[in-house]
Amino acid sequence: MERIHVAVRSRPLSAEDARSSPWRISGNTIAHSAQSSIRFEFDRIFGQECRTAEVYETRTKHIVDSVIRGFNGTVFAYGQTNSGKTYTMRGSANEPGIIPLAVHDLFQCIEEHMDREFLVRMSYMEIYNEEINDLLVPEHRKLQIHESSEKGIFVAGLREEIVTCAEQVMDFMSFGESHRHIGETNMNLYSSRSHTIFRMVIESREKGDDNEAEDSCDAVRVSVLNLVDLAGSERAAKTGAEGVRLKEGSHINKSLMILGTVIKKLSEGIEGQGGHVPYRDSKLTRILQPALGGNSNTAIICNITLAQVHADETKSSLQFASRAL
Ligand code: ADP
Ligand code: MG
Repeated sequence: MERIHVAVRSRPLSAEDARSSPWRISGNTIAHSAQSSIRFEFDRIFGQECRTAEVYETRTKHIVDSVIRGFNGTVFAYGQTNSGKTYTMRGSANEPGIIPLAVHDLFQCIEEHMDREFLVRMSYMEIYNEEINDLLVPEHRKLQIHESSEKGIFVAGLREEIVTCAEQVMDFMSFGESHRHIGETNMNLYSSRSHTIFRMVIESREKGDDNEAEDSCDAVRVSVLNLVDLAGSERAAKTGAEGVRLKEGSHINKSLMILGTVIKKLSEGIEGQGGHVPYRDSKLTRILQPALGGNSNTAIICNITLAQVHADETKSSLQFASRAL
């Protein structure tokens, strides 16, 4: 299987934070200026001047292309709250994120593949406290994961909307987002405690007259693209959380830890050797299982801030990301 691609993106800093930053970036290496043992190298490090379009073009576009060709793919944004995960995945008013860029690209690619006909479906869900909620149908909460020989691993009852253009996808996404606001006093706090999985399922078959329908070349190809905005990776114990917050925190820590283990095993090629990969230990990895192992393509964008106050969290984010290499 292909290696897991890991890139780091640092968000812009205030002039003051930039002056006091303990981190030094040189090419694809990042090091702590006061502790020489803290030093990491990645496939790519994007500095604060970099645009999301560049991250998309160089780190994730190949995954979208391969989804069209029938391979599954997953892109993760990892990092502490406020490090730029949602900015990277969804984007802002100024700059489209990886999700809109990928969706546009996907429909563009489909138009260019004149020889095949496509059926595209999307879904949008969150995992909050190890419960799966459908963001497209607010009443669909606490959904369960099932497995069947016909459908493989799936989330029972999850709405899948058939979509034919990028605008339609973006409308469904905004609908999903608008519902998350209900009853939430602090949206950022809430979203930083759940994983969101945006998913496109692409089905295609060769065009041709029906006489050839039984031909083997007429086989239907199905592939999945997951674009995942992970919960904030900050450790609950450190933030002094109690009660509900602590419970949320421990679910997040556990699922991110399991994700780290799964990715490490995959990057070591354990699966290919018949070894055990603990997908079943968390909802996140279980849902993503079909698009992580096997012939899937995976990229991780590790979002960090270089500010002095976040040095410990940044170090642990870099450690997480370097385990995947
Ligand atoms: P997270 O999802 O990791 O909690 P956000 O994506 O919400 O973090 O980013 C926190 C804030 O920083 C937001 O106001 C966002 O617009 C801003 N921000 C993050 N990354 C960038 C960037 N690369 N360029 C400009 N602003 C950014
Ligand atoms: Mg966010």
